Amino acid sequence: MTSRIIVRHGPAAAAVPLVLDSPHSGRDFPADFDAAVSEFDLREGEDCFIDELYAPATELGVPLLAAQFPRTYLDPNRHRGDVDLELIEGGHWPHEHVPSGKSRIGKALIWRTLDDNRPIYSRKLAVGEVVSRIERCHAPYHARLSEMLDETHARLGTVYHINCHSMPAVGKQGETDERRPRAEFVLGDRDGTTCDPEFTEFVRATLAAMGYQVALNDPYKGVELVRAWSDPRARRHSLQVEINKKLYMNEATRERHEGFAPLQANLTRLVEAIRDYIEAELRRD
Ligand SMILES: [Zn+2]
Repeated sequence: MTSRIIVRHGPAAAAVPLVLDSPHSGRDFPADFDAAVSEFDLREGEDCFIDELYAPATELGVPLLAAQFPRTYLDPNRHRGDVDLELIEGGHWPHEHVPSGKSRIGKALIWRTLDDNRPIYSRKLAVGEVVSRIERCHAPYHARLSEMLDETHARLGTVYHINCHSMPAVGKQGETDERRPRAEFVLGDRDGTTCDPEFTEFVRATLAAMGYQVALNDPYKGVELVRAWSDPRARRHSLQVEINKKLYMNEATRERHEGFAPLQANLTRLVEAIRDYIEAELRRD
């Protein structure tokens, strides 16, 4: 059985310079995962239903790239060299090594442990196995996303990228906000470095006007996908949007609840507002 790696929803080319991506909503489990815990437990790292929540917004002419592989199998929102040496046979990684510090909590490029510290594997991973995951999942995900952003930027002169995620309602053990309840939305622009701060403020104000409580860069500033492909001075803007899971799902059962449809409708309104903001900005030029 072959699992799907990446799916692209919406138009072949963005009608407005806006691209969405969902790196953590995949749940096609590759046959070679060979984990020691259940698929249900492995879905702990999943940003459940994020691709579905944004799917209606693609009808506005906005493409959405969605990873189909699970985040616990490989996290595309990490540098490809962010390899956890504790996972590797012999503890030695012969390729570029770019540790982010996430190995400390078992959540580097390939997750080592679950939130309760249970190990995901009862074995070490061979270097070749990790390289294969990078080549089959990380490399094509980054290549497809950067192609979409480059093509849109070349054709329309600017590009806005929304990196779509969801987060647990309360900070987990080992996180900076351990046991603290989170805002309903957290916007991350790596402290004003991945997009025009005016754009972050526009998204914040639009969500606040819908009645949501919105935090900026706390506890999430945005990670690799907004860092790697943004360059605001070259009119390439990336913003990470984290949605609190309590708004649309039951975290214990991983099932959606009655909040799903109203949130989905509001996300479509948000994307519509962003589209209008970008069109107005293009007219000002
Ligand atoms: Zn995520």
